[in-house]
Amino acid sequence: MGRTAPFGGRGDRVPGLPGRGGRLIGTRTAWTTVCDGEFFCPGCGGDRNYQRRTGRRRFVFLGVPLLSRGETGPVVECAACQDHFGLDALDHPTTVRLSTMLRDAVHTVVLAVLTTGGSAARAALDAAVTTLRGAGFDDCTEERLGALIDALAADTGRLNDPDCAPGLAIELHEALGPLAPHLAPAGREALLLQGARIALADGPYTPAERDVLATAGCALTIDPDDVARLLVAATRTPR
Ligand SMILES: [Zn+2]
Repeated sequence: MGRTAPFGGRGDRVPGLPGRGGRLIGTRTAWTTVCDGEFFCPGCGGDRNYQRRTGRRRFVFLGVPLLSRGETGPVVECAACQDHFGLDALDHPTTVRLSTMLRDAVHTVVLAVLTTGGSAARAALDAAVTTLRGAGFDDCTEERLGALIDALAADTGRLNDPDCAPGLAIELHEALGPLAPHLAPAGREALLLQGARIALADGPYTPAERDVLATAGCALTIDPDDVARLLVAATRTPR
């Protein structure tokens, strides 16, 4: 996390203003804002506005900028704590974005399991509704979920079609891949277990359900041995 400390302190960050506090010799950085947005500030720990800025460093003598010391940055400046960070700070999703990604991931895993190997049994549908509500889909009902699965089947011929597997794998990787690096191992395993419990709700795993869960585990960057261990563990633990 590349914090940058401007030479002259906070007063010197304001472009176009002379240095404050009587710093007569040193380097002053004049910052220019390139763009702004929202990020998760690793300094003050929350979703904050940021400005992406580049700076021009100048050698200052008797308060007068003389020699150019070249460009510096770009940096990300937090609007709240005003600390500077490297651009890699923008790689981390905001907490709002992370919770949306997590919700979408649960939805994708649930649908992937439900649409595998035939129409969803009532028990599986029940389990799926509970899981989706727990993930924040408050208005999810069995009727709506059933209708969605029927629509998916009619639309794509996904049910009972072995050729649909690559498409399903792509969906799982798209929904889970970007999320995986930001989850702790326990969080990734919990997502897989949610899918496993829905698969188990209407009886033992079918080969297609195992395939889908293995794909989900792979997308979540869980080791295949751990996926196998978790799938067995799910058969032993009650919901
Ligand atoms: Zn901050």
